[in-house]
Parts: sequence; C-alpha cells; structure tokens
Amino acid sequence: MIVNAEGIVLRQRKIANNRRMIVLFTRQYGKLSAGTSINERSRSKSALALRPFTHAEYDLFKGRESYSINSAGVLDSYYSIGEDINRYMTAAAFLEYLEKVLDEGAAMPGLFKLSLDFLGSVSVVKSNADTLLYAFIVKSLRMLGVMPEMGCCVNCGKDLEEIQVPRMFSVSSGGVICPDCADIENQGGSALIYKPGFDIINVMRFFESKPLKAFEKIELKKEDAKVVREIIANYTERYLDVDVLRKSDGEG
Ligand SMILES: [Zn+2]
Repeated sequence: MIVNAEGIVLRQRKIANNRRMIVLFTRQYGKLSAGTSINERSRSKSALALRPFTHAEYDLFKGRESYSINSAGVLDSYYSIGEDINRYMTAAAFLEYLEKVLDEGAAMPGLFKLSLDFLGSVSVVKSNADTLLYAFIVKSLRMLGVMPEMGCCVNCGKDLEEIQVPRMFSVSSGGVICPDCADIENQGGSALIYKPGFDIINVMRFFESKPLKAFEKIELKKEDAKVVREIIANYTERYLDVDVLRKSDGEG
C-alpha cells in the first residue's frame, strides 16, 4: 500500500545492502522508521529530503512490517540551522528529544505543528537558541501528558495564592509545593526541590503561554537560565526518561 505523509527527519543511519533507515516524525502517523535505497550522495530531489531537520513530503510503501521511502520532496530544508553552531547543537538536542518522547505510530498533530514552529524559529535565532528549546520542551509537556501542577501545591492542594513568593518547585512531586509539604518531602531524603530567586511558576507559565516565535528575541538572565535548565533537565529525565539538556552546559 502506498501512503503519503508529511514529516520531519529525526535521524538516519546505514543499514545492510547499501540501504539507510530514516526515522521520521510525520503529521499523519507520528514517529515511523522507513528504509530507503535512495543514494545519499545523489543530488536528486528525493535525496535532499532525507537529511536531518528537513521537512518534506514522502511517498511511502507500507509493507506488512515496515515502511520504505519511494520518493520525497523537500518543503523546507532549514539550511540556516547548519550555519551557526549554537543553532545546530540546540536543534540536534531537539531532534533527539523528539525521537525519545514519541511513540511509533501515535499521531501527535499538535506537537508536529509546534515542531515546525521550532525549526522555523531556531533557523533565525542569534545567541538564545537554548531559551527557545526550553520553551518548546515546556509546551510539549502538556501534549505528552506530563505537565507539572502549577495551580496549587502538588501534595496538599493549597491554593497558589496562599503560597509565598518565590515559590518552590518539586521535581520529585511534579509541581509547585508549599513550605509545609517541602519540609515533609525533605525529611524523606530523596526530595528534589528548587527554590529559585525568581518565581518559577511565572517562568513556566510564560513558556507555556507565549507563542514560540516570541522566544526568538527573549533571553533569560544567565543565572536564571542555569536554574531553569537544571529544573527542566531533571524534570524531563524523571518523567520522560530523556536527558538531552545534560550534554552541554548551555554556557557556550
Ligand atoms: Zn502543600
């Protein structure tokens, strides 16, 4: 059966018989792996559509157990990601994040649209690509069903307004936490609680509510960015089992 899909190339690797396996995030079918014998070095229109970051249309043959790519056509290559090391590293972390959090065959059209927005924005940012990635990840959490609790204490339900600012955020419990519950959790010994000098809840809500495009021009203060990175890194590691923010320290 031939199916048509619009997708983003997450990764490619060599397999046997001079073929390659391309991992795609498609709008229609979610993540899927497809084999192809289209030559990487050829300058054909199909070959260009197999490079990481590329947004393209694919004609896929769907066999009983696997897909293979018959032909493809580029919609956007986002070539300017490769012109800047900061953009490139951040976009590579974005691809790795997507590959890990997506399930094969589960369509996520909202996250697909957000991913295209991310690629468009990361292609034009100057120094603040990291902030864009933090915003993308926070936005993705709700779609992936792991959004932290931000409206009340995650453990006792105490209203947000009754908790003194700057509020604490518990990675171990999964959201904002009141001082009483933080004490209890700390006694347990394995708590992972942050008390930043700024209001983490406002920052998280800001990431969630503003369109990604707005983050092309927003840069967090360096010391704040470090804490935000650490919280998101620990949170995604705990709830999604991904650690893409651990590999570089974000100081470059
Ligand atoms: Zn509480």
